[in-house]
Amino acid sequence: MNQVLKDYMASILPEENIRYGEPMRLHTSFRTGGEAAVFIQVENVEQLRKVLPYLRKTESDFFILGNGTNLLVSDRGYDGVIIQIGSAMSKIHVEGERIFVQAGALLSQTAKAALDAGLTGMEFASGIPGSIGGGIVMNAGAYDGEMKQIVENVTVLNGEGELMELDCDTMEFGYRTSVIKNRPFVVVEAALRLAPGDKEEIRSRMEEFARRRREKQPLEYASAGSTFKRPEGCFAGKLIMDSGLRGYRIGGAQVSEKHCGFLINTGNATSEDIAELMAEVQERVKEKFGVKLEPEVIKLGKF
Ligand SMILES: Cc1cc2nc3c(=O)[nH]c(=O)nc-3n(C[C@H](O)[C@H](O)[C@H](O)COP(=O)(O)OP(=O)(O)OC[C@H]3O[C@@H](n4cnc5c(N)ncnc54)[C@H](O)[C@@H]3O)c2cc1C
Repeated sequence: MNQVLKDYMASILPEENIRYGEPMRLHTSFRTGGEAAVFIQVENVEQLRKVLPYLRKTESDFFILGNGTNLLVSDRGYDGVIIQIGSAMSKIHVEGERIFVQAGALLSQTAKAALDAGLTGMEFASGIPGSIGGGIVMNAGAYDGEMKQIVENVTVLNGEGELMELDCDTMEFGYRTSVIKNRPFVVVEAALRLAPGDKEEIRSRMEEFARRRREKQPLEYASAGSTFKRPEGCFAGKLIMDSGLRGYRIGGAQVSEKHCGFLINTGNATSEDIAELMAEVQERVKEKFGVKLEPEVIKLGKF
């Protein structure tokens, strides 16, 4: 990474927020991935407003990281700048039926704040391990809920480093997607709109969802949740199971025996193992059922 870029980062961010050659396995729920050339943790919008236009002007590659729970980073790493919007930008503020929350707050923390305030509507997200930013970009959802139902508006930084407010319609939320997946927008904050509810009922719904997750999902292994999107009219996990792939392994990567929709790292998987397993699963399901499984997991770097 060139010295000019390093000097520029050092002029904007505290030293402890900049790392070179940072292992990405420390920042992804798959616990795999090589080194990021530059890894920075931003603390506020002002820092982002300086960093983003600079990276664009110098045509440097960069990637916005939330909590890394839907991400497969190449073993060869990423030869650009990873910008993490994490705990340093995670304020949550409840006002009436609205929650104003910064992009780096976790969905689980935000759902807990909703519970504490007696607000219902976000129980579905309490067990999704992503950040608000990642959850909004992906329109994360579970148990008949999705971010689309609770997002009132989203504050983003556009390509020029200007702040913009996007309402729920402009966000173009779809199944595990939003307008931000294809545009150079960075989520910095969101306003969520919930409804008054009974605390005990909210708590018991959250507990019930957590129980279902523990029962059905291989939470004891590193993974990125469901690896593939749900195809029209069926479930990826069922197609994978019916293709005879339950427990199928490549290196340290395995189709979970507990939930075939999850590809897991059994301990020593590489990202290459996981990527090869994804390709093999796609091929076998296509062969057997003629269905093309689309990855939900985002790949970063060269595979
Ligand atoms: C055990 C487990 C269970 C899961 N269960 C579910 C589930 O039930 N439902 C579900 O939908 N998902 C689930 N997931 C997947 C994942 O948690 C979600 O997709 C989550 O929304 C990703 O958020 P993140 O912060 O980890 O995003 P990351 O993985 O860090 O990033 C995902 C994408 O969002 C972009 N991004 C992140 N933050 C920002 C930002 N501030 N501005 C712009 N772009 C940004 C990244 O560039 C990337 O393209 C699960 C994952 C695991 C490991």
